[in-house]
Amino acid sequence: MRLMTRKKILMTMCLFLSLNSFGQEVNVYSYRKPHLIKPLFDRFTQNTGIKVNAVFAQKGMLERLRNEGRNSPADLIFTVDIGRISDFKEAGLIQPVVSDVLMKNIPDNFRDPENYWFGLTSRARIIVVSKDRVEVGEVDSYEDLAEPRLQGKVCTRQGKHPYMVALTASVIAEYGYDGAKSWLTGLKNNLARKPQGNDRAQVKGIYSGICDVAVLNHYYMVKMLADDEQKKWANSVKIIFPNQDGRGVHMNVSGVSLTKYAPHPDAAIKLMEFLSSSEGQGLYAEKNGEYPVKPGVNPQNLVASWGTFKQDSLGLSRIASLRKRAVKLADEVKYNE
Ligand code: FE
Repeated sequence: MRLMTRKKILMTMCLFLSLNSFGQEVNVYSYRKPHLIKPLFDRFTQNTGIKVNAVFAQKGMLERLRNEGRNSPADLIFTVDIGRISDFKEAGLIQPVVSDVLMKNIPDNFRDPENYWFGLTSRARIIVVSKDRVEVGEVDSYEDLAEPRLQGKVCTRQGKHPYMVALTASVIAEYGYDGAKSWLTGLKNNLARKPQGNDRAQVKGIYSGICDVAVLNHYYMVKMLADDEQKKWANSVKIIFPNQDGRGVHMNVSGVSLTKYAPHPDAAIKLMEFLSSSEGQGLYAEKNGEYPVKPGVNPQNLVASWGTFKQDSLGLSRIASLRKRAVKLADEVKYNE
């Protein structure tokens, strides 16, 4: 009799647990590629029983979310770069999340002070230089990129690309608008060619002998080294973590936000929290070569082999607030012309 009761209690508990997650789901709109985050979603489902449905897009997500309005099925937005993330906030398409877990796992420079967005991985904007043509110590800061001795030796992408805008914003934060203007002017004067192409194209530029110095997000080195055609580009350069004697390397994030009309906010917040956990962070960093945001979690082996470095602790919300001025600056110095 007693045994039966215990069994009954157990069964009821199991039923309750499975009912609790049964039918629960989270809908994700993602700018991140499926192979980067699908394994994370699968693990989350394994752990919780909550299903994750993901729509992957290259662009147009903001417009889509806006058009769908209250009828949008989306709970979470996954996107990269503080520029794109803050577009969603400015458009009023996301809502704040109050979560002790997220606050504890994610350092405050990598999340919105108003809790609208949370960084889940971080990327370092590193400098790479030609192994053959640049001496050790010749370039070791973003400021060096504007030094006249590098005239005709630098390759960058366009001045108004979000990656360049965020870097310029960090220089504005350090030196003010006028200081940043002379920096960007100096950098423009050092360009080997009209700004063009993506991050990898800059490294190819060094490989081809067009330039000696470039800036790029660190994970592109991982991607190029894994690619038969691009491996030689990556192998032609040395990695430099700039500004180690000063403010540190400029960092950016990929992040997540809860949509304003999320139909499954509880399940969605559980997924956010999982992704910020040591398990989620480890898996994420392993897949995409970025740095975990949660302190104490290691990046993948190749990235770890480059060593640790000082990161700029400037809050990304500050970068976001300087974005428009950075774009204006690129226009003012006619960076792309
Ligand atoms: Fe990228």
